[in-house]
Amino acid sequence: MVRRALIAGNWKMHMTTGQAKALAARVGEAAKQATDRDVLVAPPFTAIPAVAGALAGSEVIIAGQNVCWEEQGAYTGEISPVMLKDLGATAAIVGHSERRQIFGENDDLINRRVTGALGFGLTVVLCVGETLEERESGQTLAVLETQVQGGLEQVSGEDLARIVVAYEPVWAIGTGKTATTEQAQEAHAFIRRLIGKRYEKGLADQMRILYGGSVKPANIDELMAQPDIDGALVGGAALDAESFGRIINFK
Ligand code: PEP
Repeated sequence: MVRRALIAGNWKMHMTTGQAKALAARVGEAAKQATDRDVLVAPPFTAIPAVAGALAGSEVIIAGQNVCWEEQGAYTGEISPVMLKDLGATAAIVGHSERRQIFGENDDLINRRVTGALGFGLTVVLCVGETLEERESGQTLAVLETQVQGGLEQVSGEDLARIVVAYEPVWAIGTGKTATTEQAQEAHAFIRRLIGKRYEKGLADQMRILYGGSVKPANIDELMAQPDIDGALVGGAALDAESFGRIINFK
């Protein structure tokens, strides 16, 4: 099964509009050569219009870093799927470990975001991953199972085509520590088997599973050579146009 690779950049809480515009323009340039793979950027909400302007006519996908499930209403501080689409985004990251850890988001809330975003036609990048403590106490696969099942509760097989799962071990995010390719491959294969059991093997085989956690130009090629790694969700290195350009153009 050949899955089209996806390289996604999560800009987190970085980039004013001017900075975002300049970075997006360079990402657009780098993505031009990468015609056999998809590229996604997730700027902060405030920079999405500037990024959409800079990427007009480009194939680069624009995503929110989070999304609410409702179209509108009394949800102070939240952004709706309709608002994201209005700005030119077609996707949203949901369940990032920083949302889970710093802002206390649990699988229930994350599932509401996932189903809401899907309902309004967005593509969802659902992030899952274990903490160091969970890995060291042998709970990695159980945690992944809970987060994948919880995040995808009530998601139909049909909607699964608009889900991308990102496996991001929390201990590897922003720490410079990358999971070994074996650790990453094991987790990815496990997630794919889970999806296969819950839905069907054909759907699991089509699903893209990204690796995230200190992805850099120096490790992307080896990661992408793994059979179940279909792309990357990149944080720090996505803020540097040259590094992200090299990651997009992995070999
Ligand atoms: C992330 O934010 O999803 C991430 C993986 O960050 P970093 O690449 O900086 O570890």
